[in-house]
Amino acid sequence: MTLSLYNSLARKKEEFKSLVPNAVGMYVCGPTVYDRAHLGNARAVVVYDVLFRVLSALYPKVDYVRNITDVDDKINAAAKVNKEPISALTKRVTQWFHDDMAALNCLNPTHEPRATDHIKDMIAMIEKLIANGNAYVAENHVLFAVKTDSEYGKLSGRKAEEQEAGARIAVEKYKRDAGDFVLWKPADADDDASSMFDSPWGKGRPGWHIECSAMSSKLLGVNFDIHGGGADLKFPHHENEIAQSTCAHKGSHYANYWVHNGFLTVNGEKMSKSLGNFTTVRDLLDKGIKGEVIRYALLSTHYSKPLDWNEKLLSDSQKALDKFYRLVEEGLPPLPRTTQNPILDALADDMNTPKAIALLHENPSLIPQAAQLLGLFHENPKDWFMTPTEDAAAIQELINARNEAKAAKNFTEADRLRAELVALGVTIMDRPGGITEWRKG
Ligand code: AMP
Ligand code: ZN
Repeated sequence: MTLSLYNSLARKKEEFKSLVPNAVGMYVCGPTVYDRAHLGNARAVVVYDVLFRVLSALYPKVDYVRNITDVDDKINAAAKVNKEPISALTKRVTQWFHDDMAALNCLNPTHEPRATDHIKDMIAMIEKLIANGNAYVAENHVLFAVKTDSEYGKLSGRKAEEQEAGARIAVEKYKRDAGDFVLWKPADADDDASSMFDSPWGKGRPGWHIECSAMSSKLLGVNFDIHGGGADLKFPHHENEIAQSTCAHKGSHYANYWVHNGFLTVNGEKMSKSLGNFTTVRDLLDKGIKGEVIRYALLSTHYSKPLDWNEKLLSDSQKALDKFYRLVEEGLPPLPRTTQNPILDALADDMNTPKAIALLHENPSLIPQAAQLLGLFHENPKDWFMTPTEDAAAIQELINARNEAKAAKNFTEADRLRAELVALGVTIMDRPGGITEWRKG
């Protein structure tokens, strides 16, 4: 079977061919661990989790690297606000990230390098860039000189100058060109010791872009198959990764296929920390919304398109999964003996998750095939329907009121309350001894 992917570098959908037969290497930019993951961050994780699952179905060996950025300006700033050591902050937030992504049925990547464990590799790469004439030292910073890279801009189609022009901030005077970006920066006087590292240029820390270049080449080699991340990372982050890696490793081309997921939006605007329009995965899990419902919602739209988050998307996802779990509980018709795997076919076509979901609606006997590939249907149907939901307390109150109405022989009121429960999607089961059980769906 062939896998096709939209390659942002080629600007078209291409047939995927791995560098070596039977093995694939994929790098995806991971979280900066300073706060809870929001649903936009989760979309990126879930999308590449599906790609990892599809690759694992097609190739015997898949090396999936997703880093943890645990050294970054945002982390330093958050630790100062919280008045806590950086290491305590990054450890806690990394654990939150792991817990939240596990709740969304995301598999662990094959490797999860932490930036702080690879500072030596970053320094070695920066030294190579200086030696090759692509980087220079200025006022305790090391900067990448974009003008030395004739290929700069090939991914995003944007020019180096736009890097600063978009930011509308004064260009630091130590930069030769406005578009030059930081490879190493000096520590601030009040920085926590755990975010300061010794280097040939004094105590400081690496820039964010060099982290990914160093960790990907260390774990996957200087050329590898797939690089993924959100569309917002294309420029400057990914453009800068390509520049650093290809200039440090002469003759290399870095990643062959670049995959970018579209934004998760709220009323059409990108969900982000800075706009304040975000909902964390944990906010929803704490309300009793199941991780699978969030995951289904995130996969309901093709990964490359924007996905607008709203209550209806969530309730439609809940209803669809309730329907599928009910069918599983009732017993699915057996799938005729076949080597066909239409779900894998749909996903191998540039991860067409909406098509895979549409196929399930047409033919629910494909559910077992879809479970592993989509990372859905992992629960036992009994548990699915019995788990308390957000409105469990309200439902129990309605049931109690109905039982009281029945005891008082006020059957009109009892029927009205039953109708109200049905409208909430609740099925009630009157058991002997006056006990009422209920379930959603
Ligand atoms: P950040 O924590 O902002 O560095 O983002 C971590 C990952 O989440 C990156 O791959 C981003 O591209 C991705 N991301 C952040 N916000 C969104 C969003 N609203 N929609 C989709 N992906 C996002
Ligand atoms: Zn990266």
